Amino acid sequence: MLKIYNTLSNQIEEFKPLEPNKAGMYVCGPTVHDFAHIGNFRTFLFADLLRRYLKFKGYAVHHVMNITDVDDKIIRKSVERGKSLRDYTTIYTDYFFEDLYALGAEAPEEILRATDHIPEMVGIVKRLEANGHTYESEGSTYFRINTFDGYGKLSKVKFEGNVVGASERVDSDEYEAKENARDFVLWKAAKPGEPFWETELGKGRPGWHIECSAMSMKALGETFDIHVGGVDLVFPHHENEIAQSEGATGKPFVKYWVHAEFLMVEGQKMSKSLGNYYTYRDLVEKGYSARAIRYLLLSAPHHKQLNFTLEGLRGAESTVARLNDFKQRLTEVQPEEGSTPAIARMAELSLKRFEDAMDDDLNAAEALAAVHDFARETNSSMASGAIKSEDKAALLATIDRFDSVFNIFGEAKKEMLDSEIQALIDERQAARKVKNFARSDEIRDQLTGMGIILEDTKDGMRWRRK
Ligand code: AMP
Ligand code: ZN
Repeated sequence: MLKIYNTLSNQIEEFKPLEPNKAGMYVCGPTVHDFAHIGNFRTFLFADLLRRYLKFKGYAVHHVMNITDVDDKIIRKSVERGKSLRDYTTIYTDYFFEDLYALGAEAPEEILRATDHIPEMVGIVKRLEANGHTYESEGSTYFRINTFDGYGKLSKVKFEGNVVGASERVDSDEYEAKENARDFVLWKAAKPGEPFWETELGKGRPGWHIECSAMSMKALGETFDIHVGGVDLVFPHHENEIAQSEGATGKPFVKYWVHAEFLMVEGQKMSKSLGNYYTYRDLVEKGYSARAIRYLLLSAPHHKQLNFTLEGLRGAESTVARLNDFKQRLTEVQPEEGSTPAIARMAELSLKRFEDAMDDDLNAAEALAAVHDFARETNSSMASGAIKSEDKAALLATIDRFDSVFNIFGEAKKEMLDSEIQALIDERQAARKVKNFARSDEIRDQLTGMGIILEDTKDGMRWRRK
């Protein structure tokens, strides 16, 4: 049974979906004004780990991610570059998915752009208006937080006194808990030179928070299972999503709120504004592999901060290389027929340990420890020749199960094709003819290493697999 820490209840809870065997999950996506950094990808790869583990447990997952393609920064930068909002955000949306998929993430079932959902956002604001949660000021519409009893239930942020009126409201989407809770903007009046939509609420554009309420409920219904984001989204973004959604529908919005902790650099959050960040592309340019970056970002449990260093990444690089070599050797080993029961049992116990760790609030560090111990034990069984044909299949299947969740082993190189073997043999014959015995011996050793036996017959050189 999967147990997961729920920010809303402040407790580890058993995961019980609304509908048996199904899991609906919404992940707050990137704001596409620039390349995402690997701190952002820590959160998105955690979401990928969660979706993959839900599938491992047998759930049919419906994973929805949004693209925030309108906000102050996006507007400013698109104007600077002389591009339309759509053209500008398409550039960084495409880069984002290139990087996300290069980092081994599976595609979400739905990807929704905020600016394609303006009517749904207006619809929610109208419902909030009808329920007495809003007021209008200078063409903008605000959510009055003291009309919503549950305000603060996710972040546990307390607000004092009567938070009403123009002096207490904020137009900006970004404010911090220490600034106290404020009435927040649902719909922003158009400013000169900015893109706007002409709607029932007047000329303007949506606030950031309303985007996610509209898209998540459209895709997953008014109540759904899981909502994911980085810890910095707990307040105000997710608190405000709850107020808007529940204020409009009168129903509970989300069952499980799951937040990923920060990727840190020398004690500070990796962020664009601090300038202490790497993008995926920066690291590839330095020669690091996507698989090592993925391994590093997934190796710590999501509820713990992870300190990023290049030294740590070098360590991850050698770990994934070792795992890949191990899979390669196991793929190539040529065992005798039969089985060794102790080996099948070891594989089963490893998988059980892996699953127990992941069931325990997705303890990735402990799950990976089970993978490494499995590799170590398999290696020693390979060395002693204990692995038989049926064991080999079971061990490879176990690796596939681990990797359906972590996706870190990489592909084993395929066995050589007959035509490739024949080409090597022809090259060897040619080398012998010109008395290049060094090359001819090299090819013989290479073939022997792959379990290919060469036989000189009166009809010429023959080969067979061992
Ligand atoms: P943004 O594109 O700024 O909206 O952020 C996208 C996601 O990245 C959000 O879920 C953030 O919470 C998350 N995020 C931002 N910085 C970090 C970090 N240093 N470590 C982990 N997640 C982060
Ligand atoms: Zn969101």
